[in-house]
Amino acid sequence: MERPLTQHITFPPLELRQYEAIGGYQAVRKAVRHMQPKDVTALVKESNMKGRGGAGFSTGMKWSFVPMDVPGPKYLVANADEMEPGTFKDRWLLEGNPHQLLEGMIVAAYAIQATEAFVFLRWAYKDAAIAIRKAIAEAYDAGYLGKDILGTGYSLEMHLHTGVGRYMCGEETALLNSLEGKRATPRAKPPFPQVSGLFGKPTIVNNVETLSFIPHIINKGADWFKSLSRTADGGTKIYGVSGRVRKPGAWELPMGITMRELIEEYAGGMKEGYGFRGVLPGGASTDFLIDKHMDITLDFAGVAAAGSRLGTGTMVVLDDQTCPVGFVHNLEHFFAQESCGFCTPCREGLPWTEKLLWAIEQGRGQEEDLELLLRHTEWLGPGNTFCALAPGAMEPLQSALKYFRDDFERHIREHRCPYHDPVPAVPA
Ligand code: NAD
Repeated sequence: MERPLTQHITFPPLELRQYEAIGGYQAVRKAVRHMQPKDVTALVKESNMKGRGGAGFSTGMKWSFVPMDVPGPKYLVANADEMEPGTFKDRWLLEGNPHQLLEGMIVAAYAIQATEAFVFLRWAYKDAAIAIRKAIAEAYDAGYLGKDILGTGYSLEMHLHTGVGRYMCGEETALLNSLEGKRATPRAKPPFPQVSGLFGKPTIVNNVETLSFIPHIINKGADWFKSLSRTADGGTKIYGVSGRVRKPGAWELPMGITMRELIEEYAGGMKEGYGFRGVLPGGASTDFLIDKHMDITLDFAGVAAAGSRLGTGTMVVLDDQTCPVGFVHNLEHFFAQESCGFCTPCREGLPWTEKLLWAIEQGRGQEEDLELLLRHTEWLGPGNTFCALAPGAMEPLQSALKYFRDDFERHIREHRCPYHDPVPAVPA
């Protein structure tokens, strides 16, 4: 089984000369010396690479929306602000092979003729910051960054920017505002950043896993990329599993393996004494799937057909000894805290939802609360808020009300939490 993304991950990561020795920076050489920018974009489009940040939007198509004929600067941003709860896949790539990301960024920047590139890094990823800073310096010294890259006349400056630890900065337009030194609130889309992004200029924002794949697509081609996958979505995917499984972790596997293979084979099944209740397949802001979904394929279409989203592909498993109400309350606590406060449904609705869930968890819930909660999942749902934060936050709640309704009802009926009595304090 090929594992192009992770096969050269080491701690500490490969230095530039070691990375070159395993074929590193060949994709930069090939692209800037022998390919037209539009041909790079066409190849990535043909590969059917779907963005790995969570939304699964075609990467090549996104690049093709950049207007190439407008004067002035263009920008590329690697979105390394990985803060989706349960998600730790990009950290692995950032700390374990920063040159692979940089190489992908240089090729992507060349494709859209960007003059400046930024790694927007999650504040808490301190080791990644050290690794990336070192890799950028090495790439400048070797002539892969800076003026007149490899004597081709193409120039690119690259910067590391560390965020301030806000979930909102992962949303691409809030990220761009933050880079500009403004408050990290999202912008209205359209216009999309491809047309009007950083400082109003054409900008591509791509996820770390997406960009790390680019060198391999340039070197080995679109058909090779497609052949890695078991389904129509090309490539391998870094999947992760956390929760009370025997072997929590992350693995690079063919896109489209089944949930059963991932949880039972790779994560080793549930820990002794724990049963499986459900799983959030793509980080916290996705709908629960349950045991009847074990044989679905973990690609974008497969998870969507089951009523959820692949998202980041990092699964959070709920076991039979953890209270689903407390579990969802904990998530809503996070989302309420991370709301940027810009739009009313999110700013007011999320703390209110959290408060109601906490009342139910503590045995103070009323029968009518469940209907109210359900209505909230619609009020805060798609189309009613400015960005995807609140709708994403409603996904685990609405699916918990569907699959674990008995648990909610029992809390209200018995005026206590059947799992944890007394319930532990609210997380700080
Ligand atoms: P989105 O679907 O609005 O956009 C995805 C990308 O496609 C963006 O770059 C956007 O510019 C582009 N795009 C979408 N429609 C377009 C169009 N019509 N024309 C041009 N470009 C278009 O999704 P989003 O709000 O950017 O991201 C939501 C996803 O992010 C969720 O799936 C969630 O799982 C994920 N997420 C990930 C993390 C993380 O830590 N990795 C954190 C929070 C959320």
